[in-house]
Amino acid sequence: MSRYEKVLLVLISFLCGILGLCVAIACTAEAEPITVRVVAVRGENMLPAAQTKRIMQQALRYYDNACWINIKLKRFEVRKNPMPWIGNGLSDTKTILYAWESWFKGQRSKVDIKFAVLPPLKDSAQYWIAGYSTDSCDRGGTGYSTAEPKNQQGYARVVHSATAMRHELGHLLGATDRSGSGLMDTGVLYQIGAGIPELDAHSQWEIVRCAGRW
Ligand SMILES: [Zn+2]
Repeated sequence: MSRYEKVLLVLISFLCGILGLCVAIACTAEAEPITVRVVAVRGENMLPAAQTKRIMQQALRYYDNACWINIKLKRFEVRKNPMPWIGNGLSDTKTILYAWESWFKGQRSKVDIKFAVLPPLKDSAQYWIAGYSTDSCDRGGTGYSTAEPKNQQGYARVVHSATAMRHELGHLLGATDRSGSGLMDTGVLYQIGAGIPELDAHSQWEIVRCAGRW
């Protein structure tokens, strides 16, 4: 082997090494999941903890399948309300979000999404399902939704609770509010028929783009 061939061989080996390293880094980045921490708060008329966890896991699986993202529930805990002084009426929705945002900040959670599931809001002696979340496509975002097993007329509210949870998670994954139809419609809770509405193609695209999969 000539000196020239030896140099060429070393150069090729070096380039293959670099290429291998790049592929390895790309594969690791690909496998890196979006992590979620959930706090379920005990309270009046709240959905049971096991059911709350189940519908959260179903929601994450839904996004995993619908948007080809790798999303994992990293931590699920049940707590009594750490901020009982925060209002729980319909007019308090934004205040509740900000309170949870600062509470999670104090917890130094090293997760991408922080989510609280709360007992239903109470307004004029009626229970309401609601939710709120920070800006779209912000890894490190905070959201919450409320959940209850049945409303005061005795109708099951689990589908409403699951829909509110999915809608807010959608925001945290990069989808914006849409008018028309689908899961990201602002009035989605009024459109529930047999089951949870699906993401429309535009919302799906927003999430795929936010996850860097487009
Ligand atoms: Zn929304």
